[in-house]
Amino acid sequence: MMQQYLEVRRSLPPDTLLLFRLGDFYEMFGDDAVDGASLLGITLTHRNGQQMAGIPHHAAEGYLQKVLKAGRKVAICEQTEAAKPGQLVKRELTRILTPGTALEDHQLDAQSNQYLLAVETDRDTLHAAWLDLTTGTFEIATSSTPEELLNIFHALDPRELILPESDPLCNPASAATDQEHVFHEGWKTLTEGRLLNRQPDFQFDRREGARLVLETLGVLNLEGFGIEKTHPALGVAGALIAYTTETLCAPPKNIRRIREYQLKRTLLLDSSTQRNLEIFRTSNHQRKGSLLDVMDGTMTAPGARLLEQWLAAPTLDLSTLLRRQTTIEEFLEAPGYGSELQEYLRGIRDVPRILGRLRNRLRNPRELGAIRDTLLQIPHLRAVLGEFLGPVIQGLNEGLEEFPQLRDLLIRSLNEELPNQLLDGGYIADGYDDELDHIRSLTRDSKEWIASLEAAESERSGIKNLRIKYNNAFGYFIEVTKSNLHLVPEEYTRKQTMTNAERYITPELKEKEREILSADERSTSREEELFRHIVDAVLAEADALEETATTLAEIDVLLGWAKIAREWNYCRPVLEDSGALEIEAGRHPVVEQSMLADKLTGIPGQHDFVPNDTRLSTGDEQLAILTGPNMAGKSTYIRQVALIALMAQVGAWVPAKRCRLGLVDRIFSRVGASDELSRGNSTFMVEMNETANILNHATERSLIILDEIGRGTSTYDGLSIAWAVVEHLHGTGDAGPRTLFATHYHELTQIDQRLPRVRNYCVAVKEWNDQIIFVRQVIPGAADRSYGIQVARLAGLPASVIERATVILDKLESDDASHNLLKQHLRKSRSGKSEDEGQLDLF
Ligand code: ADP
Ligand code: MG
Repeated sequence: MMQQYLEVRRSLPPDTLLLFRLGDFYEMFGDDAVDGASLLGITLTHRNGQQMAGIPHHAAEGYLQKVLKAGRKVAICEQTEAAKPGQLVKRELTRILTPGTALEDHQLDAQSNQYLLAVETDRDTLHAAWLDLTTGTFEIATSSTPEELLNIFHALDPRELILPESDPLCNPASAATDQEHVFHEGWKTLTEGRLLNRQPDFQFDRREGARLVLETLGVLNLEGFGIEKTHPALGVAGALIAYTTETLCAPPKNIRRIREYQLKRTLLLDSSTQRNLEIFRTSNHQRKGSLLDVMDGTMTAPGARLLEQWLAAPTLDLSTLLRRQTTIEEFLEAPGYGSELQEYLRGIRDVPRILGRLRNRLRNPRELGAIRDTLLQIPHLRAVLGEFLGPVIQGLNEGLEEFPQLRDLLIRSLNEELPNQLLDGGYIADGYDDELDHIRSLTRDSKEWIASLEAAESERSGIKNLRIKYNNAFGYFIEVTKSNLHLVPEEYTRKQTMTNAERYITPELKEKEREILSADERSTSREEELFRHIVDAVLAEADALEETATTLAEIDVLLGWAKIAREWNYCRPVLEDSGALEIEAGRHPVVEQSMLADKLTGIPGQHDFVPNDTRLSTGDEQLAILTGPNMAGKSTYIRQVALIALMAQVGAWVPAKRCRLGLVDRIFSRVGASDELSRGNSTFMVEMNETANILNHATERSLIILDEIGRGTSTYDGLSIAWAVVEHLHGTGDAGPRTLFATHYHELTQIDQRLPRVRNYCVAVKEWNDQIIFVRQVIPGAADRSYGIQVARLAGLPASVIERATVILDKLESDDASHNLLKQHLRKSRSGKSEDEGQLDLF
């Protein structure tokens, strides 16, 4: 057996834990045992000089999850035949579980996609392929601007990564240019906390990759998918398939499509914008409180995942967006049906993932039941959707197939309650199959016969408490308590002695036992045979089922949005191909909801979100500079504009009274260094890296929000940088990216005198008895002061400190000292240039 073990062990990479099935346990040996014991908190034992640690197989799920969470891989070697005394059982590697290739329900997060990502760099070009094995989503991309792809990767949030072992990305020190350096840094952040596999280079061979992809999809060419056979990303795609085949111990069977990711048709959100706008997760990594969370009105897991996909890749395709918007409108026109529909949707199960498992031979009766339950809902859904008059909903409804034959088969063949293991048996309904019914009647008859034998024997022997029982070791036996031993008939054969009783068998009992056991065996194997047929019937419809499931997910997301739009009073934004961005009475979707939640739970403070307007346009009011004291609401306001634009560009309605948006190609959002405390010590460097990224990549169609840029360094440096950044974004042409710039440098507000497309706004505050009251209203004009001292008072600084600060401020202001200082400083730093050159003479 140890030889068998070592052979399997040798075939695996050293970092993979091997669980070796021994009877009811999975055992680990040697280094695996040491590792496994500490990882899982189980006992390490020694036997014959060998270190061992084991987990009971029925409790394996929990342990496996722990290993995967720790970013490790686990290989499972099963016994593949029934144990025979004195013989070595056959064992085979059946599965290597890894974080990115798990298929088993309990190892998946129902609400999010699970991507495995492979990349390869080819000088300046990056090739990538990603696969969600659970649903068969398979995409490739190639880009000569690797940073852009990196942003997509962040949104995909892959569970696991694959690289060729000689790739420069494996060796960040090799970065030559600044651009490469930035990319390597970004890559490093992406890989943090994720399992990274370095695979042999030959697995990334393009020719072989193309062959593998064709074979896996079962097609002769990729033209149907709009992809050339020579596409350079097919090498990485092949590496993904090779890796997946390794982990499944069989080729993946549920990959039916491949798609080329269209960078040009997608609104790009770089990773810091995703983080800063808290799109998928909040700053403390919670889904709750993110944009994704407030936009999620879905009832099904596939719906929640589709929503995540849409947000990760907002489309620039106007017709797609208009169709989604109209669906929401049609849902809202017949409000009465919404909750009824959601009730039916609640009964829809995770069909795409179930099909993924069934196709990859992970099968259990309960999953067939889930398909049945889903099919039962569809006629109801169709009936209700049929009541809607809108043409788009009618179109969606037509996309829902009912599968009446498959549904009837599942209803007839399966029991209501189903086990989640084939071995448990008893899942096929009575009356479905004559042979099974016959076998079952034999078992039933025999069991009745045994019951009547018990009565008869008790009567015959006069032993009142004579019992016929069953256990795994002895089968059926007759049990007689010690006090009645004198009554035991002679023909009984004694089998076992217990403390209070003796156990006997008789030839006729053993004969019946054989009948029962063989009937049980036949019944199990007949059930399994029937099960396979039903699975085949499901798989025969799998492609169509998948399409219906996709339509259901779409309905789920859009109905959810309709519900949210009604509940929170959202409007349908006007989308167009222009440089406009106009919002009337816009609100921050997350802050608004959390304020209401606070109100409901009785947390004191302000509870009504104050709406604000926005007007930007590439050619006219391009750049808004927003000033106002700390805590006034600047950050909230500029984020709300970005979020509204993003929501509009996935096709949702938005928290505003009116909104008009010329489609945006990228959204950039940057926060001054000191706001991002968790990013390590070189925060100013990070801030500047990110600002550089914006200045290099923003186009006229981009939307930029900058929050306190320049704050990470000294006042004069910071102000100078902020000033120059505004000048750059404004440019010398007659249009530029729509930009909102929140700043505490109120000196910056003078820039509107030089640059025609700059507008000043401030968040209004009221002064009252030397105190300030925040009114949260954005109004035209510049803030004249920063009210730092008043805010400090609100924050509870000691009165003596506040008083002293007020005195110092008065002195500084009366001397106009700050301006003089600033002048001197700028003069110095412009080394040699006379004061009236350039634009800074405003100071
Ligand atoms: P700033 O960036 O100007 O320092 P913030 O945007 O961080 O200010 O906002 C400060 C506080 O004001 C936050 O707690 C936020 O919830 C609240 N707030 C901001 N905008 C509004 C608004 N429009 N209505 C109500 N409360 C708001
Ligand atoms: Mg702020």
